[in-house]
Amino acid sequence: MDDVVIARTALKDWSSWDDDSVVQEYERTFARWNGSVHASAFMSGREALSACIYALGLKSGDEVIVPGYTCVVVPNAFHYEGIRSVYCDIELETFGPDAQDIERKITGKTRAILLQHLYGLVCRDYLKILELARKKNLRVIEDCAHATGAKFDGINVGNFGDVAFYSSEQSKVFNTIQGGIAVSNSESIKEKLQEFRDEAKRPSDALIEKQLYNVLLNYYKCKHRHRWLMGDFAELLYGRRRLVSTTKDEEQGRRPAYYGRKMAAPIAKLGLNQLGKIDMYNEKRRQAAKRWALWCDERNVKKPTIIDRSIPVHLRYPVMVPPEKKTNTSWALRDPGVTAGVWFVSQLHPIERTVKGCPNAETAVKQCINLPCLGATNAPNNAGA
Ligand SMILES: *Cc1c(COP(=O)(O)O)cnc(C)c1O
Repeated sequence: MDDVVIARTALKDWSSWDDDSVVQEYERTFARWNGSVHASAFMSGREALSACIYALGLKSGDEVIVPGYTCVVVPNAFHYEGIRSVYCDIELETFGPDAQDIERKITGKTRAILLQHLYGLVCRDYLKILELARKKNLRVIEDCAHATGAKFDGINVGNFGDVAFYSSEQSKVFNTIQGGIAVSNSESIKEKLQEFRDEAKRPSDALIEKQLYNVLLNYYKCKHRHRWLMGDFAELLYGRRRLVSTTKDEEQGRRPAYYGRKMAAPIAKLGLNQLGKIDMYNEKRRQAAKRWALWCDERNVKKPTIIDRSIPVHLRYPVMVPPEKKTNTSWALRDPGVTAGVWFVSQLHPIERTVKGCPNAETAVKQCINLPCLGATNAPNNAGA
């Protein structure tokens, strides 16, 4: 409800939309909460990744190692700059990049590794990859889109590499409908992130308005006490303003004209409000994950690995099932009685694309489903599916 109040208030007061001090407050608050020196906020995780690429000084012709099990918008951010994504395989314990395969894929042109923490788990080869990067003098970008608040040795993930980004898209750990933020603890990278952010435009009034209406749409469809009724009204009122997370252009690898936007003030207000609740939601998710672990034990289903010294945030609970159970997940409605998520539906979700040389990633596409860890209390459960 608090998010709805913020959205409604902002919709009535357009004069506040250019108030950059709110965005700065959000950036400072996120950085402090995350234990980072600096944060710069954008309109999506992918645009925050583009800021990371700029901040590291990666250039056309460079190569970066990217897990062959990710969202297409991740390789797109590199592609827009003429940087080649070389795909590495993942492991099937935490669905993170496999350190050994990364090492095999390093060439003379490799400049960086994209390290990914999926489903809110801290990736299995975290330390190995950081060590490998140090040895080979490569930069590390941490994709924490699923893992905002996950900890390793008591420190939030994203603080171990050179630069990191987080997403507050509606299917992620915290929700501003769309949004992203990049962090760094390095003085020189921090300055570059800030440079990128200061040169970026804020989104158009029409887009801000649309995004605020999506807060209302979600609330009435997913959270309202009478959502069975209100959901239909909201659909009629706001349904045609529904935002899509990835446009047709992006699916085809084309950079949208508006791409590279800094965060707008009303969205930062939502972000500030969400930061006040994120620890509570993550604790609820951890409790749900405990129940999923028992469910797995009772049915002999393989559980994801929680690596030593880590505290995950369990955005979703990934399990491997026979391929026919991923093709049709209706069984999950009976036992365990939930709608199963299916991301990633392809190696470069959501586009149909097979990346060669990543057998585990292919297996995960066929067999990895994910179970919800938070009900209709926060984000909608669509989770990109
Ligand atoms: C969602 C996601 C992103 C991109 O975040 P957006 O805010 O949607 O741009 C990047 N990486 C992964 C693994 C994601 O799931």
